[in-house]
Amino acid sequence: MLGGMSGASTPAPGRLETVRRFVNTLDVETGSDALTSPGALVAWLGAADLLSGDTGDAPGRDDLARAVAVREALRQTLAANHGGDPIPAAALAVLNDAAGRARLTATLTARDGWRPRPAADGVDGALGGLLALVGDAMADGTWARLKVCVNDTCQWAFYDESRARSGKWCSMQVCGNRAKQRAWRGRRAESTP
Ligand SMILES: [Zn+2]
Repeated sequence: MLGGMSGASTPAPGRLETVRRFVNTLDVETGSDALTSPGALVAWLGAADLLSGDTGDAPGRDDLARAVAVREALRQTLAANHGGDPIPAAALAVLNDAAGRARLTATLTARDGWRPRPAADGVDGALGGLLALVGDAMADGTWARLKVCVNDTCQWAFYDESRARSGKWCSMQVCGNRAKQRAWRGRRAESTP
């Protein structure tokens, strides 16, 4: 499940960790992908406690394609968390489409006020459950700390525990040091006659 050298990064609190793990089902650096078939998708969503009720017709390639689109839209959304940037329009469209298919509905909860909850079953409902976890994290203030590593070849999702919320890399030991070494080599090259 955890791939690459960046697997040691900090987990997110509570169920937000499920969202982080979902984004990390693709290890960008190695190309290793846990969601390679509809069956693998259903197994993952089941293990993450996101599937409820009847899964209806056997999930197909279109369900897998939608799940992967949601994953990559979430990755773009986490990249935007670095600067507090707006969510890119394409990602917003994918996530709102998924929310519509899941029939995400404002639901009064016993302790946490109104929260989005999926009314649909199956894969659509499970993807809605992930988006509901995003909504919960936005409400409790933890969402802005979930980010993807700024190293383009990495893009591993990590939880930024730094006090200033200024974390850029999945891990200082891996990607942070790589970036520092590149900057150092660049400066040395400039100063060499
Ligand atoms: Zn990284």
